[in-house]
Amino acid sequence: MEAGARIAQLREELHAHNHRYYVMAEPVISDREFDALLDELAKLEEAHPEFADPTSPTKRVGGDLTDKFEKVAHKSPMLSLSNSYNAEEVAQWAERVQAGLPDEEVEFVVELKYDGVAISVWYEDQAMVKALTRGDGTTGEDVRANVATIKTLPLRLNPGAPNPLEIRGEIFFPWPGFEALNESRREAGEPEFANPRNTAAGTLKLQDSAVVATRPLDCMVYNIDAETMTAMGIASHSEAVREAAKWGFKTPQGRSLEVVTSVEAIMDAVAHWEEARHDLDFAIDGLVIKVNRYDHQKRLGMTAKSPRWALAYKFETERVSTTLKGVKYQVGRTGAVTPVADLEPVLLGGTTVKNASLHNADQMAKLDLREGDAVLVEKGGEIIPKIVGVDRNASSAGDLFSQAIAFPGTCPECDTPLIRKEGEAQHYCPNSATCPAQVRGRINHFISRKAMNVDGLGKETVTQLVEAGLIRDVADLYRLTAEELLPLERMAQKSVDNLLHGLETSKSVPFERVLFGLGIRHVGETVAKNLAKSLKSMDAFKSVSVEDLMALEEIGPIVAESVASHFQDATFLAVVQRLQEAGLQMEVVLEEPLGTALEGEVVVVSGVFETMSRDEAKAAVTNHGGRLVGSISSKTTLVLAGDKMGPSKLQKAEKLGIPLMDEAAFLTRIGGQ
Ligand SMILES: [Zn+2]
Repeated sequence: MEAGARIAQLREELHAHNHRYYVMAEPVISDREFDALLDELAKLEEAHPEFADPTSPTKRVGGDLTDKFEKVAHKSPMLSLSNSYNAEEVAQWAERVQAGLPDEEVEFVVELKYDGVAISVWYEDQAMVKALTRGDGTTGEDVRANVATIKTLPLRLNPGAPNPLEIRGEIFFPWPGFEALNESRREAGEPEFANPRNTAAGTLKLQDSAVVATRPLDCMVYNIDAETMTAMGIASHSEAVREAAKWGFKTPQGRSLEVVTSVEAIMDAVAHWEEARHDLDFAIDGLVIKVNRYDHQKRLGMTAKSPRWALAYKFETERVSTTLKGVKYQVGRTGAVTPVADLEPVLLGGTTVKNASLHNADQMAKLDLREGDAVLVEKGGEIIPKIVGVDRNASSAGDLFSQAIAFPGTCPECDTPLIRKEGEAQHYCPNSATCPAQVRGRINHFISRKAMNVDGLGKETVTQLVEAGLIRDVADLYRLTAEELLPLERMAQKSVDNLLHGLETSKSVPFERVLFGLGIRHVGETVAKNLAKSLKSMDAFKSVSVEDLMALEEIGPIVAESVASHFQDATFLAVVQRLQEAGLQMEVVLEEPLGTALEGEVVVVSGVFETMSRDEAKAAVTNHGGRLVGSISSKTTLVLAGDKMGPSKLQKAEKLGIPLMDEAAFLTRIGGQ
């Protein structure tokens, strides 16, 4: 192919991959394949300057700028590092460095390459003033409000820190927090997040810092401005990182900040982390090797795109081949049908893998799976392994009689024809009333620890009770009697007593958990808590409209629609009615308010405050008798306006003639001074 044509083709392909990666967060090729294409393009462009184009993908790798946040120029460009994918390339780089510094003993630092989002945080007078994303490398977006929720990143520095100060680090989602987030999404019937890196990136771009605060992000600081450090008499990167720990930052330590002086020692560290990375409680996608001394870094300098004194080494994504035994279908409590691949157990990324998610029918069709296929399984940044392809050479591809595994037309549990909602990839069993999988799912959710926490009742017993026809919905639980239970298998007097006692005790579980236990789609633990706090009783839900719900703090249209439609459903209402009759908690037990200064006021809290956090301001409103709402409407009577209140809110308040109250006036009013 002609150079010009190949250049055009590569540019088009790379633009498409960029879009899939950054905008849709659904890459279809590996980082390594992407880099190889980019590299080919860069070389062709260099050899054929006549095809130069400022919009070529080589001129801008990635870029995540949106219109939601203020754009700010970086103090110095946030460069990406050159990548390497094998030990040989690392050794060659180290030798080049050594050759560039003849007669010097070069120190290298081997660090982890955290799989997250790069951030530049600025401090002035020891206080965090800005937090910029990488953006296009020269300009980032100020997401300080969101970054300020990260507990491991100080808002105020310890004494001794330089002023001003810029640090760079990586924000990432540790596995335990990520798993907990997915668990709560599962419980709320919401789709789970696929990997921690994209979730961290998405979280930083959320408009609502209160939601960000519920997600336990972490931040590791790995770079401190060299000029500032040199001025303080600090001569190397590793010393600077250790110094930064004293100012209050979380920094790499021990083997994740290892100083070595030979190529062999670098390779030892690489070999160590290839294995040890599986024991970390966060994801890394490689290592970063830097020249330690600042004077050495300066002498080596930069290429046009990246520093010569640092190199990223990327781990190969682990991929294994195994046999597909078949496909199982799980029916969730909302009726969603999920195909799961049943695999010949295989070791991958330090754990034995037996299942892989197939997501939905489209995904299955794309893979064209047949029973007995040799499938390629990968575990990248994801928790759940996925099938990325079929090894046709090792499979029964030549077998004319093999048939692709077809997605079932009817529910594997109740045989009802499945439906697929417009615009959704998932199939559903519409028989929510009597599909055994959905009935069991709803009851198991209701009795779970975070909901009614019924002691003495487990999943097996629920299955047994449903099969025996003793329970059809959650309200039936409270009608169970010892006479009905005793004849069942494995039901001795003691377990019957325990079960009935557990149910009796659950009647004192607070209203918010009863609400959560009802399993309304999109109503997770936090949403249930907020809704209970605002509406205060089950009766209030029965007459609430979508508009009323949307005016509440932190309730969006999807949740509002779902809640309202449940409380219009006769079957659902009948269950609620019977739970009410059984004596469950159906209203919030009110605590004595601190005062009544805001009684009758319908208040919107907006902006940031000097003496209190936004949550504290909101608590102050309710504690003094005011009612909180999330958005300004004609019913709003007061806007508590802090700094940086959004212009659209300001305009709306002005248009509707709703008075604004500043922080000082608010404190005077509730303080009664
Ligand atoms: Zn069904």
